[in-house]
Amino acid sequence: MARLELVAGDITREAVDAIVNAANESLLGGGGVDGAIHRAGGPEILAECRTLGGCATGDAKATTAGRLEARWVIHTVGPVWVGGGAGEDDLLASCHRRSIEVAAEVGARSIAFPAISTGVYGFPKERAAPIALGSAREAAADHPTVDLVRFVLFSDTDLRLWRGALERSDPP
Ligand code: ADP
Repeated sequence: MARLELVAGDITREAVDAIVNAANESLLGGGGVDGAIHRAGGPEILAECRTLGGCATGDAKATTAGRLEARWVIHTVGPVWVGGGAGEDDLLASCHRRSIEVAAEVGARSIAFPAISTGVYGFPKERAAPIALGSAREAAADHPTVDLVRFVLFSDTDLRLWRGALERSDPP
């Protein structure tokens, strides 16, 4: 069973095998986590992204990680929140499932996620947290080579919110 950890911090500093990027469908860069990852990792990541032909919402694709401590960046595209009736929950779950599948494919044993879709994409955090935690936990159970799943929250407030969601969620 994978260890599930919640921390506050900057995901670009994480020394795990793979960090997840909250990308957009073009994979050609954006703001938020995406901008931070490309800035910290250097141009190599974008050069690889250009060869991938974009990524559908809910899917994930890996590149190497340039200057980052991680070995891989797994780019996933979260749903834009448009009110909750357009499959946003399922797409958010799919991001976590696909990211862990891709991590297993490249041989990453540890993976760190940001709070996908909860920035510019506007997904309510209280609703995103249990979906992210539940889908990541399920996917990790299906891919036992992935033994550490860490969520890196960008503020102490977010960390508290996610801790609350974890406490309320089903025990493993
Ligand atoms: P999206 O477009 O999927 O909403 P954003 O990058 O705008 O993605 O935001 C996703 C989440 O990542 C937000 O909760 C934001 O506060 C957080 N975030 C932004 N920068 C970082 C970072 N360097 N490390 C970890 N989390 C970050």
